[in-house]
Amino acid sequence: MDQIYPKLVTEALSHVKYPGNGKDIVSLGMVEDDIRIDGRKVSFSLIFEKPNDPFRKSLVKAAETAIKTYIGSDVEIEGNVHIKVKEQPKKKERKILPEVKNIIAVASGKGGVGKSTVASNLAVALAKAGYKVGLFDADLFGPSAPKMFDVENEKPVAIEVEGKEGIAPIEKYGVSMLSIGFFVDPNNALVWRGAMATGAIKQLIEEGHWGELDYFVVDLPPGTSDIHLTLVQTVPITGAVIVSTPQEVALADARKGINMFENNNIKVPVLGLVENMAWFTPEELPDNKYYLFGKEGCKKLAEQMNVPLLAQIPIVQSIREGGDEGRPVALDETSIMGKVFADLAKRVVEETDRRNRELEPTKKVELND
Ligand code: ADP
Repeated sequence: MDQIYPKLVTEALSHVKYPGNGKDIVSLGMVEDDIRIDGRKVSFSLIFEKPNDPFRKSLVKAAETAIKTYIGSDVEIEGNVHIKVKEQPKKKERKILPEVKNIIAVASGKGGVGKSTVASNLAVALAKAGYKVGLFDADLFGPSAPKMFDVENEKPVAIEVEGKEGIAPIEKYGVSMLSIGFFVDPNNALVWRGAMATGAIKQLIEEGHWGELDYFVVDLPPGTSDIHLTLVQTVPITGAVIVSTPQEVALADARKGINMFENNNIKVPVLGLVENMAWFTPEELPDNKYYLFGKEGCKKLAEQMNVPLLAQIPIVQSIREGGDEGRPVALDETSIMGKVFADLAKRVVEETDRRNRELEPTKKVELND
């Protein structure tokens, strides 16, 4: 009598078709790879995505018949056949931004390191890559997105969508954006303390009619204040991008930022670090790099803290000019700086996908039939 081995069993099972789509159950990945063989006893498990799959019982029968037909009628199919029901990845059901796939917070420990520049250019680069993108500038103390998008004089209007009154984001450069700067005079920002500030930010995020978005970029205020703590606890952030310069003082604060997000009570994954103002290259000496704020400080911090380094962005006049003129450099993806931000967007997408995959439930519920 020939020995039975697992491949024989999968071959036999590949003759069984799933009636719902006519494909065989092996190539559909419905056969668990824990086929057990003990002499002429065979046990195997089928995986169903839905616990109440109408073909559950008939497929188990068909599988048993296939084994007996293709291997031998004497084969005993051991005991109960296990049916494992794959747990459906839960559809993200959230109250805040239910139609938004990924919320990316752009944060920095210190002000002036280029956080808003990175957030705006990242949003534009993601939109250029074909994603539906929203940008919310929550930088209460220095809202700069209206300037960077050249929409300082725009006034967001209230609209009603499906019976719900809300705020229509401003559309510019393929990005739907709102800024706390449209609503708050930055000169009075300090008055907007703690709960009031978070309340206002949260409300603007919630009341924006953002529609379906692949990426919602939130430009956070600098630092690790109470505002951040409340905000990251109320807005379901997919991951954070931390911006720093390679300078010691900035790095120390960036480290605090990373620790805040990774804190057990917060648990927002850090997608990675962006080293901004990494070096300066004068136009007349294109091969020279001057490390004005120190060399590769973020690269080292990223290694120490075990987070990816997403980009190193040099000090370039066009970045500052683009910001001041309201035309982010990322708009021209053929320019050197446009390419740098396109690469950053690509890395953010990769890291977000990786985090999302890690979150997918792998637990399987086992039912015995
Ligand atoms: P933050 O949001 O961290 O306070 P900003 O993004 O507002 O910082 O940047 C501060 C200033 O530095 C802005 O004038 C901006 O145009 C400029 N800037 C930021 N990054 C760069 C860069 N890589 N090269 C040149 N200028 C930059």
